[in-house]
Amino acid sequence: MTAYVVRDVKHYINGEFLEAVSNGRFSNISPFTNKEINQVARGTEAEIDLAVAAARRAFDHGPWREMSVKERLSYIRKIADLIEQEAGEISYLESLDTGLPISQTKKQAARAAENFRFYAEMVNSRLVGEAYQVDEQYINYTIHKPVGVAGLITPWNAPFMLETWKVAPALATGNTVVLKPAEWSPLTANKLAEIIDKAGLPKGVFNIVHGFGETAGAALVAHPDVQLISFTGETKTGSEISRNGAATLKRVSMELGGKSPAIVFDDADAEKALDAVVWGIFSFNGERCTANSRLFLQEGIYDEFVQSLKERVNHILIGDPMDPDSEVGPLIHKEHYENVKRYIRLAEEEGAEVVSGTIPPELSEGNFVAPTLLLNCRNDMTVAQEEIFGPVMAVIPFKSEEQVLAMANDTKYGLAAYVWTSDIKRGHRLAQKVDSGMVWINSQNVRDLRIPFGGSKNSGVGREGGHYSFEFYTETQAVHVAIGEQSIPKFGVKKKQQMTASEIQ
Ligand code: NAD
Repeated sequence: MTAYVVRDVKHYINGEFLEAVSNGRFSNISPFTNKEINQVARGTEAEIDLAVAAARRAFDHGPWREMSVKERLSYIRKIADLIEQEAGEISYLESLDTGLPISQTKKQAARAAENFRFYAEMVNSRLVGEAYQVDEQYINYTIHKPVGVAGLITPWNAPFMLETWKVAPALATGNTVVLKPAEWSPLTANKLAEIIDKAGLPKGVFNIVHGFGETAGAALVAHPDVQLISFTGETKTGSEISRNGAATLKRVSMELGGKSPAIVFDDADAEKALDAVVWGIFSFNGERCTANSRLFLQEGIYDEFVQSLKERVNHILIGDPMDPDSEVGPLIHKEHYENVKRYIRLAEEEGAEVVSGTIPPELSEGNFVAPTLLLNCRNDMTVAQEEIFGPVMAVIPFKSEEQVLAMANDTKYGLAAYVWTSDIKRGHRLAQKVDSGMVWINSQNVRDLRIPFGGSKNSGVGREGGHYSFEFYTETQAVHVAIGEQSIPKFGVKKKQQMTASEIQ
């Protein structure tokens, strides 16, 4: 495997790579060795001010929103081309930084390029208004305009793909951008800045400020010149951002946490369901928002299914994220690792049977958590209610459709759900009753970029994806035009009657 050079990471502001104003830096730590990978510029309010000012100038006075759509989209396609050309380096940096297995980060790099191509296509074909004719009197129509400076705040769990999922529609619709990537995974965000710089976008159209959420992130949210915040991350951070953005009336889109149920009925194709639930919880090291972290098994298949799960868990290949055969790598950070381990201990205290794979001794330096099943769980246990965000699945038996529906919905989250049954009527019935933004029936979690992505309840606000992103990244303006004769009420043409002296009295 080619090892690429890793440079220290700087901010990207107004078309230049810059150190922090105060020269502040922080260490970026490897999840595999827990040693420093590199140093990263630490942004504060000062860097956010510079980046927002650059983005504001580029929006108000630059060519970006005035240029022809054809020209703007040629930049977006150029970014996609460059991502494809540099996909090897991107997946290497992503695996080094996050611990995600290289076989999986390769697919994420390809998806990132697709995000840009997709939005070039969508803006061309689907960024359309509507026209309403009122008899022969009026024609009223809508147009979509860019909103202004978009603040984008992203998590560490699939950083490059998730950044591009926001940057692509924000730029393609004509906004300018300030991105604040997660502090635990700055490498591929830096690579994105290099790519966008190479693509030659006008200065200030795209900016990155690295740093911590409580400082750099909070300053971006509070900035009066930023019109919208698209956020992906934890639910409690989402609430804080909503609160902090309220003073400046920010438009917000929130993609938040989940505790998604997979429901497998006795009549399901058990082999396919097994493949899907194992992949759904253990790919991406279990650090996946739509992971099926609660598995509901109907009592007729419980024992056999659990036996197969145990066998799979024992055979999952845990290893160096750079090894193409590794299926599970180390968790992003020591702090997150400790948190996941704490939940596994809690599961035992709460009475679940804990079954884990084993970690080879040579991996002791890394943040490895073996794939873990929490068997015979109850849905009201803390480990079945809170998002663990690691390779840990709570397994809960059920008897009937009514009972499993009640348990599936008994959570504060509502991101994804998966139903496995050969009774297709039941599949649709459950899909309509389950509280979640997305449901897959007899299917693994596959994405169709035209379809809206997002969660209900505490899993999100709004939808991104397809033309749904346009509602967020554009301002819809109504234009009213009179095309016929109009009868407009005439004010101010009536002559005031002179009052007589006796009327005045
Ligand atoms: P996080 O909320 O800790 O951090 C996300 C980002 O927010 C980071 O860039 C962080 O620096 C920033 N941030 C933190 N505090 C802030 C503040 N006060 N103001 C502004 N910015 C702030 O989340 P994380 O731990 O990086 O990511 C994991 C979470 O993300 C999980 O809950 C997961 O489910 C969720 N997630 C959701 C989706 C989805 O599409 N629904 C996708 C991926 C991840």
